[in-house]
Amino acid sequence: MAATTRSYGRSAAQMRPVTIEPGFVRTADGSALVSIGETRVICTASIADEVPRWLRGSGRGWVTGEYAMLPASTGERKERDSRRGRPDGRSVEIQRLIGRALRVVVDLEALGERAVWVDCDVLQADGGTRCASITGAYVALALALSDLVQAGGLPALPLTGAVAALSVGVVDGEPLCDLDYSEDSRAEVDANVVMTGDGGLVEVQATAERMPLSRASLDGLLTLAEAGIAELHAIQAEVVGG
Ligand code: UDP
Repeated sequence: MAATTRSYGRSAAQMRPVTIEPGFVRTADGSALVSIGETRVICTASIADEVPRWLRGSGRGWVTGEYAMLPASTGERKERDSRRGRPDGRSVEIQRLIGRALRVVVDLEALGERAVWVDCDVLQADGGTRCASITGAYVALALALSDLVQAGGLPALPLTGAVAALSVGVVDGEPLCDLDYSEDSRAEVDANVVMTGDGGLVEVQATAERMPLSRASLDGLLTLAEAGIAELHAIQAEVVGG
């Protein structure tokens, strides 16, 4: 197995340094700047007293995710969707993943007829932006909802748990936790794992690029992801206030 030199001198099972700065955008109902190594994403949550038409009168709320990369967040400038005139397929796929992940931990009945817009904007991309988005989006959402409870808008927090995500993969035959771009771009297997705070799997997107992945390898990757995600949940809990 090739000895891999990893960023931050980390071992195969270690994540990059993680920080979550709450309240990064003062005008949002809830916000966080999440940094995982060089990957940085601003996540905001905005609550509206209106639901999509198909939910009107149902008594239930909705949570929608949106995702975009700022033009200068990548090595080569990425054109804005507004200029291209159509959304980027990758962004659409990612924002649907973010929305699904968040809805798993929101009690939509308890939320009532409200929509929460969770926007994830990538400031700097170095791999793992969709996972960082989910981890930060949960914090922005929890902060927005807890403010709503404080303001008397809801009797209790309509959350059933926490959610966080991490990328794992196989590079040069070695299973690695939290791939940065240099690893992601040459990975044989690339997986994004979304889990709740109590260890429930929400979504696993695993792709073998060159060789098929064995069941045992997938299991090994999930074990790596689980340990990292537990650390992310601990950081989230600290930021959100337990
Ligand atoms: N990337 C890029 N431009 C793009 C899409 C991706 O530079 O239009 C880079 C960026 O560093 C990103 C990485 O490729 O983090 C991996 O992209 P992927 O689609 O696997 O999503 P991510 O790992 O960010 O969730």
